[in-house]
Amino acid sequence: MKKVICLLLAAVLPAVFISSCKAKQKKYSATKIMMTTVVTVTLYGGSEEILEGAIGLCESYEKLFSRTVPSSDISNINESGGAATAVSPDTAELINKGLEISLRSGGAFDITVLPLSLLWDVQHSAAPPDDASVKDALKTVGFENVSVNGNEVTLKNDASIDLGGIAKGYIADKVAEYLRSEGVKSAVINLGGNVVVLGEKSGKPYTVGIQKPFAGQGEAMLTLALSDKTAVTSGIYERYFEYDGKIYHHIIDPATGKPSESDVASVTVICDSSCIADGLSTACLVLGMEKSAELLKSYGAEAVFINRNSEYSVTDGLTVDTTGTLPMIALK
Ligand code: AMP
Ligand code: MG
Repeated sequence: MKKVICLLLAAVLPAVFISSCKAKQKKYSATKIMMTTVVTVTLYGGSEEILEGAIGLCESYEKLFSRTVPSSDISNINESGGAATAVSPDTAELINKGLEISLRSGGAFDITVLPLSLLWDVQHSAAPPDDASVKDALKTVGFENVSVNGNEVTLKNDASIDLGGIAKGYIADKVAEYLRSEGVKSAVINLGGNVVVLGEKSGKPYTVGIQKPFAGQGEAMLTLALSDKTAVTSGIYERYFEYDGKIYHHIIDPATGKPSESDVASVTVICDSSCIADGLSTACLVLGMEKSAELLKSYGAEAVFINRNSEYSVTDGLTVDTTGTLPMIALK
């Protein structure tokens, strides 16, 4: 377990660091391994009870959305054999959001990619699967196989659902909503790199680091100045194996059934909704930088791309200040 926690910390901590200026308000912080990642919630102001409430919220959502938790809504849907399955309103809402991004990204994002993720199993595999197996797994993939009618979800064509590309963002939004309703004015919610910041810290925007792809633990390449926004990163360096000099990572291109081969090594999406940013970051990684522009624009989202040569570029709504040690990116 210790090894697992260290690996998780290594995977997540590099992506985010928080500026260290002194807070006037009392700090409450909790870190927990959840949703196969490291979850940290930090409040400036509030109380221990509010913090516990935030962590409790993450736990209850994980029980609904995880495909590996028996009797979660997603397990029930996947085991239904195609029968209509009643789910909680939150699950129905999240699936609908996932379907919308699937549609608007032209299928680059697809919540039915699960058979391919299981086939590639990049955390345990040492070599790619054969083409026939990929072709076979592709047969059940297609978001059009999912229909939501009120709070009932139905799958056809033996499809199965995995919300791993969007659920953390949805949960981060819900935690932010809860903290605001409790009167918390300044906080950072970090669900394994899905970051939401509430307000500012000591009158200044929070500083969030963007990990240099494939670099050492905690090595930021860029920094982001953020207040009352979310930033979500998807990266090919997060989970992968290398075979014959090629990287096989965890984000699958549903068009090929293989890990995306776009020019993008990492993409960080910045907008108001963490759920949208989460779905978009996964989609943009598949689409590549050029094809992502229209999709991002349609959601009013901004993004920072790092390509496979470690060169970065930003969308039109962002500015870059290069006078410091690391480039500092902010919304215009
Ligand atoms: P993220 O880290 O948010 O980009 O999500 C990656 C996770 O989303 C993977 O571990 C899979 O569970 C799932 N996933 C992989 N490829 C896709 C895809 N093309 N569309 C939607 N979800 C995906
Ligand atoms: Mg995502």
